[in-house]
Amino acid sequence: MHPDLEALLTLQAKDQDVTKSEQALAALEPDVRRLDEQLAVAQRALDAARRAIDDALRRKDELEGKIANYKTMQDQRRQKLEWVRGAKEASTLMAELDLTRTVLAKEEAEFMRSGDAVHDAERKAAEAERALDAVRDAQAPEREALAGKREAVSGDLSAARGIRTEATRSVNGALLSRYERIRRGKAPLALYALHGDACGHCFTAVPTQRRVLIQRGASIETCEACGVLLYSAE
Ligand SMILES: [Zn+2]
Repeated sequence: MHPDLEALLTLQAKDQDVTKSEQALAALEPDVRRLDEQLAVAQRALDAARRAIDDALRRKDELEGKIANYKTMQDQRRQKLEWVRGAKEASTLMAELDLTRTVLAKEEAEFMRSGDAVHDAERKAAEAERALDAVRDAQAPEREALAGKREAVSGDLSAARGIRTEATRSVNGALLSRYERIRRGKAPLALYALHGDACGHCFTAVPTQRRVLIQRGASIETCEACGVLLYSAE
């Protein structure tokens, strides 16, 4: 066996442990995302309900302002009516007063309804708030379980990374940088055992001469086709 091979294979095993922990951590993500999305739906419903309260209040304020305006106008007409002399002018004022009284009655009825609309919107917002709380409560046990799992897996991951870093110290520098470079490529692993007379990753035949070197442990050769490091499992 090539003298550096054992250290490389150990490093590769530690890297596989790291990958396993990373995958375990990633596997928790869909559940977290599902819970987040569920919560976001309930939150959006609450936000919309709160906006509806604002809209209803604005509508109510607008009507209040309009009614106050009409009332001021009516007061001014009544005062004017006290001192106008011309009959025509007086009857015009009377007609305006009558007309506005009708409009005012409609606006006041509308104002009453706008108050109901505010209460309605407030009731709906309270419902939406309760619904959001209910979602949060219902999620609590699962969230807690997920957080526990995540903490455990994160612990495993940082331990595995520590061990991995430790394992790099036993690998010769030039070989380590070759190994790291291959790991950044497409192959899932950097080191593959010969598969018969072929590369164990891409199954391209390895020329006899190089195969002999590998089998004798004389050198750690690279697959000419896919670039992984080759060793002999025997
Ligand atoms: Zn190959």
